[in-house]
Amino acid sequence: RRVGYAIVGLGKLSAEEIIPAARTSEHAYVAALVTGEEEKGEGFARAFDLTEDDVYSYEDFEKLQGREDVEAVYIVLPNSMHREYTERAAKMGKHVLCEKPLATNAEDAKAMVVACKKAGVLLMTAYRCQYTPEHWAARDAVQSGKLGAVKLLDSIHAQVEDDPTAWRLKAEYAGGGPLPDVGIYSLNIVRFVLAQEPEWVFAALHQPKKDARFKEVEESVSFMLGFPDGVIANCQTSYGAQKTTTLRVMGEEGSVLMDPAFPYQGLKLTIKTKEGSLTPSFPAYDQFGLELDHFAECIRSGKQPWTMGEEGVQDHVIMDAIYESARTGQVVKLSGSRKKDPFR
Ligand code: NAD
Repeated sequence: RRVGYAIVGLGKLSAEEIIPAARTSEHAYVAALVTGEEEKGEGFARAFDLTEDDVYSYEDFEKLQGREDVEAVYIVLPNSMHREYTERAAKMGKHVLCEKPLATNAEDAKAMVVACKKAGVLLMTAYRCQYTPEHWAARDAVQSGKLGAVKLLDSIHAQVEDDPTAWRLKAEYAGGGPLPDVGIYSLNIVRFVLAQEPEWVFAALHQPKKDARFKEVEESVSFMLGFPDGVIANCQTSYGAQKTTTLRVMGEEGSVLMDPAFPYQGLKLTIKTKEGSLTPSFPAYDQFGLELDHFAECIRSGKQPWTMGEEGVQDHVIMDAIYESARTGQVVKLSGSRKKDPFR
């Protein structure tokens, strides 16, 4: 039996990626829609074989409690709304798949984990890149030792945000600028391929307040992460620079290059080792379909999702430290960990 999801928020990502992906999913389907715009919801319902009765307003969210076919909600709202809807869903006994970033700060993210634990429901952070074969191949290259000892990593995720009215540029809604929106990919994937946690961060940011877009949030951030054994990662993110998504891992005996590293499709990976250079290709997949299926399987088996809530909390702890470092000009110490995959 497939798992029925209620999609909460019908913005660009839901419309263009998540709802279409659910149609191809093996273990999941869209059972209900939650939106502030009734007409829009009904339009989607018609297009996706649902009825008007499957469309709920935000005020009617709790009516989903009576829908036994809705076992999970997928929260695709502005970041500041993630906590409220996670807590409301958990109270109804619904499992929660929540878009990244999990919240707007570590405190809210932790509260979401606690709420779901207390309610006995699963919480998954939607880190789509931790489900692709390319990112797993990059991680395997690092973890197998084929690159020798890893010394350096770097990653960029930048894109132009040119609408000054966008919620992404409002601190209250977004929790920051490009860092929690796109820089988080670099942070998350560096931690993923190394399977370690940073011991310190050091960061600088630029916020040109005269530009109407950057009155509240930064335009660019450059951050450095120090891992156990002296491994250093340099990451950059911006809302001012053209679309760039890269990941590089440099070891004593080899390297990994992904460029582009974070789009929905068309990732390109090159692994260089002593044996030569390899550009692997994989069968077609849909990143959102993989996420929906993974969480559905967890719901059926009772297993924790691979990118559980704690994984989202950890990125917030580090992003909070990145902002602190940029503000104080000091290195900020973190707990660090050599342990492979501390959250799983
Ligand atoms: P969007 O602006 O296109 O959609 C947001 C939705 O929330 C809209 O339907 C809007 O009507 C609704 N909403 C409800 N109350 C609102 C309010 N007070 N202000 C503004 N909108 C309100 O945004 P999006 O690009 O779909 O992003 C939604 C979430 O998905 C964010 O958390 C974002 O970080 C995440 N996201 C993830 C990826 C990914 O690749 N995983 C890509 C894009 C966005």
